[in-house]
Amino acid sequence: MTFTAEREQNWAGTHVYGATRILQPRSVSELQEAVATEPKIRALGTRHSFNDVADGPGVLVSTTEIPADIVIAPDRSSVTVGAGTRYGILALALEEEGLALHNMGSLPHISVGGATATGTHGSGAANGSLSTAIRALEFVGADGSLRTVSRGDAEFAGSVVHLGALGVVTRVTLDVQPSYRVRQDVYLGVPWSALEGAGVRELMSLGYSTSLFTVYGDDITQMWVKSRIPEGQADIDVPDEIRGAKRHANRVAFVSEDDNTTPMDGSVGSWAERLPHFRLDRTPSNGDEIQTEYFVSLDEGSEALAAVRALSDRIQPHLLVTELRAIAADDFWLSETQGRDSLAIHFTWAKHVEEVTALLPDIEEALRPFTPRPHWGKVSAISAADVEARYPRLGDFRALVAKHDPDGKFGGGFVDRLVLGR
Ligand SMILES: Cc1cc2nc3c(=O)[nH]c(=O)nc-3n(C[C@H](O)[C@H](O)[C@H](O)COP(=O)(O)OP(=O)(O)OC[C@H]3O[C@@H](n4cnc5c(N)ncnc54)[C@H](O)[C@@H]3O)c2cc1C
Repeated sequence: MTFTAEREQNWAGTHVYGATRILQPRSVSELQEAVATEPKIRALGTRHSFNDVADGPGVLVSTTEIPADIVIAPDRSSVTVGAGTRYGILALALEEEGLALHNMGSLPHISVGGATATGTHGSGAANGSLSTAIRALEFVGADGSLRTVSRGDAEFAGSVVHLGALGVVTRVTLDVQPSYRVRQDVYLGVPWSALEGAGVRELMSLGYSTSLFTVYGDDITQMWVKSRIPEGQADIDVPDEIRGAKRHANRVAFVSEDDNTTPMDGSVGSWAERLPHFRLDRTPSNGDEIQTEYFVSLDEGSEALAAVRALSDRIQPHLLVTELRAIAADDFWLSETQGRDSLAIHFTWAKHVEEVTALLPDIEEALRPFTPRPHWGKVSAISAADVEARYPRLGDFRALVAKHDPDGKFGGGFVDRLVLGR
């Protein structure tokens, strides 16, 4: 096992971990020993969260050095993988076997365990978050022993989006399906009028997965439509114009000038190389940034966007870009998309820490009629009282944590403050 004793920070440099040490076990048994021994321990993934959700007062333990050991089930309907494995590594291994995941987040660099613990999502009105692919999770519990929670178990819905509060996940079993091909097309200049009323759901239902990007100017600057090619077809026809937006030959750089995005030229290729926005072999996004994201009901998306747009003048000086995505409802107790098909209103901010911190309460107040749930892994101003009001199964989650972690070994910081009421 390796460990670092210096204060380390998250990927974006927006949080310096307060934990005293970061452990890197190389096997599940080393991990079990560490969990059994340490009085306070929290799991760390690939550090892509922007806040202190992964932090704690004791040590942090990462599973990224435990071998991925990717095992495909004999019936080829699921795969089991080490929790610290990056999505991009899993995706390439599945593609080699002629298999696929149902969706990907915008970047393939995040770990399977860390992404699913916070309800990380891609887009597509009919696609659930990445967590909805989970069939089973193997946890190291507070005494160092292993336990598995599987779909169908009474505790499953409470255990999938868990924020690290139920133990350290070692192995994750995910649904897979036969590999498919995708094309990605870019449209420029979607008029705001296209998002009125049911327009949000209609646009978000284009293709397999749609993302809209705006800086709150005269229109939605870009729309990326990822279309799934039906089995047996070489390609599909895509329109040259959608609601007044014109198809463009390729992406137009706006967050980063680097050639770090997946192909957007309408070419057909692997799902693994087109569902994420960013390439595994490049630095994703801008890097020097803060991210915030709010989930509202997809059916109230139009009104929620209007409320945000009313703050455009204050948002624009600090914004790199807003991305809009859709996620299908699920029933996980702590999921941001629990119980409602959702529109995710995302902000990539310049690192204007003070200004963004001052602005977030006003954005949240504007969104209050739509009971926004912030992304667990991004920066927000939400209070414990609002978390309580917006997650109807929070009491059940607390009871689950009390059962599996009665002494609060996996607690601390963010989860104690905002979720567990400690
Ligand atoms: C550039 C960029 C793009 C992003 N794009 C998206 C996107 O498209 N969609 C989206 O929804 N989010 C996105 N995010 C947010 C990101 O997906 C989440 O914050 C995610 O949780 C990060 O996963 P991680 O592996 O880095 O985990 P960390 O940030 O290290 O940890 C996150 C949480 O998972 C827990 N955890 C991690 N590993 C384990 C484990 N083995 N066992 C138990 N608990 C564990 C931690 O305790 C913590 O609570 C993006 C972030 C960045 C930096």
